[in-house]
Amino acid sequence: MEFFRLRGTGVAPGIVQGQAVVAERVLYSAHKAYIPPHRVEDELKRLRDAMAETREDLAGLKRDVGAKIGEEHSFIFDAHLLILEDRSLLQALEKLIREENVNSETALAEMNEHYRKIFEAIEDEYFRQRQSDVSDVLGKVYRNLDGKKDAGLEGVQDRILVAHDLLPSEAALRLSRGRVLAVALDMGGPTSHAAILARSLDIPTVVGLHDITQKVQNGDMLIVDGTDGEVLVNPPPTVRKEFLSKKEKYDGYRRELRKVARLRSVTLDGSRFFPMANIELAEEIGYAMSYGAEGIGLFRSEYIYLQRSTLPSEEDHYEVYARLARDAQPRPVYVRTIDIGGDKNLPQLQIEKEPNPALGLRAVRFSLRTQDLFRVQLRAILRASALGNLRILIPMITEIEEVGEVKAIFTEVKAELREKKIPFDEKIPLGIMIEVPAAAAMADILIKEVDYFSIGTNDLIQYHLAVDRSNEFVSYLYKPFHPSVLRLVRFVITTALKEGKDVAVCGEMAADPLMAIMLLGFGLRKFSMNPIFIPRVKKALRVVDARTVRRIVNQAVELRSAQEVEEYLIEKLLVKHPEAFFLGP
Ligand code: PEP
Ligand code: MG
Repeated sequence: MEFFRLRGTGVAPGIVQGQAVVAERVLYSAHKAYIPPHRVEDELKRLRDAMAETREDLAGLKRDVGAKIGEEHSFIFDAHLLILEDRSLLQALEKLIREENVNSETALAEMNEHYRKIFEAIEDEYFRQRQSDVSDVLGKVYRNLDGKKDAGLEGVQDRILVAHDLLPSEAALRLSRGRVLAVALDMGGPTSHAAILARSLDIPTVVGLHDITQKVQNGDMLIVDGTDGEVLVNPPPTVRKEFLSKKEKYDGYRRELRKVARLRSVTLDGSRFFPMANIELAEEIGYAMSYGAEGIGLFRSEYIYLQRSTLPSEEDHYEVYARLARDAQPRPVYVRTIDIGGDKNLPQLQIEKEPNPALGLRAVRFSLRTQDLFRVQLRAILRASALGNLRILIPMITEIEEVGEVKAIFTEVKAELREKKIPFDEKIPLGIMIEVPAAAAMADILIKEVDYFSIGTNDLIQYHLAVDRSNEFVSYLYKPFHPSVLRLVRFVITTALKEGKDVAVCGEMAADPLMAIMLLGFGLRKFSMNPIFIPRVKKALRVVDARTVRRIVNQAVELRSAQEVEEYLIEKLLVKHPEAFFLGP
């Protein structure tokens, strides 16, 4: 058997070897199939029967997934039912059959192509990928036309699943059975639902392989390297050996991470610190805790919106927050109200495109503009607060008036709940994110208005240094060690602490060991980051003495440039504690 390699994007790390199972996909015929006019009525009935059967299938899947995996995954089938029941879809299909005298298969193929073109024109990657929802539904109807149910994905246990695209409905059901070794897809990007789910379920996954389904056959031996984004097909023994040793190293590294995750979070001189996780989905919580998270420092709630094609209801919100509260209990969960608008557009709301999205109607600005949605979200968070330790975080605050407006709405929503005798945590804390330099400079005034700060350094650096955080041409200027950034961050931290209030850093800065030590020196004790980085930060903080570090960093902010700061810290910290910066076998 021929050996070859395919490159894609690794979206869930890990290296696995196993046999391929190639999922069947709906292949629409390129040829139009016509029917005689007298058969039109029969054809319409055939189509409606297949749609009715698909409705039943979807309702069944919704029940199954809800019971086996959790209600929060079954919402996808509500979205699919809505697509299926959309009158304009049926009307468009009927029109094609009646006016062009084509059969149902051809009508479905044309609709699929029609939607593909519409979605392709969408700029936002996340929404472009929602095409797979529509495709998924049309494909199910197509299969039901000739009674060929989706049988291609049976037998994936202990195998590597190779598929064109893991449609949202399949992703939840297939992956969470826990026995798929790895996944390799033709399509997909890092934000696809399948990728997010694979990461949180710890299944090595490579996407964007273009035509792996054409090149690989059932039973082929594969090595999926989700860390480097590569798939090896039928590797000879020498290559296999090489990868197995890479796998051993990687697995050893993971074991080391988990070992560190279980150690106590205290510095050498006994100062307690709290590593926490930034997550996007409620189901990531177990994975975050396994890496040593002592709470969720940032729950990016906009994903509740981004995951569906309709607006989430209060119940949709509530289910997510209730699960977070219960699963993290007694640990805290900081729920950030939606950071949407600007470039994260919501087609549900048809927001106008803005000339400069980063400086536009995003986050709290958007919430204050669409107050009905904001109230729905606050009500859901408050209701769920009765079940655990929830806290609220407001993103992108620029001025004190916004804090006042948010608090007024918050007070009203609480009063409503009290009146209806709906329980909630009366003491639920409310804090703000410091990610706009104007708010950072006013930290001493703002802290009096709120229970805590969380510093969003990703945006704070972007706005403070006027460097687009996602523009590669200016990324050389994006410098977290810039003394100006450090002075600002130090001011925010010390101001909050002086006032006896809580403060955390939840931007990427907290995930870098050298920077985390620097933040510790400023007095910070709460560090929130992508869970995978928790062990290395924890390891670094455990070997330093908080008092010594304090002296070192206060010198560092007096230096003239980012480079000088970095060199100084390397000399004073890295050279003295090399063990703090290296993890692994
Ligand atoms: C930040 O800006 O640092 C932050 C944590 O928020 P996000 O990355 O979601 O903008
Ligand atoms: Mg931000």
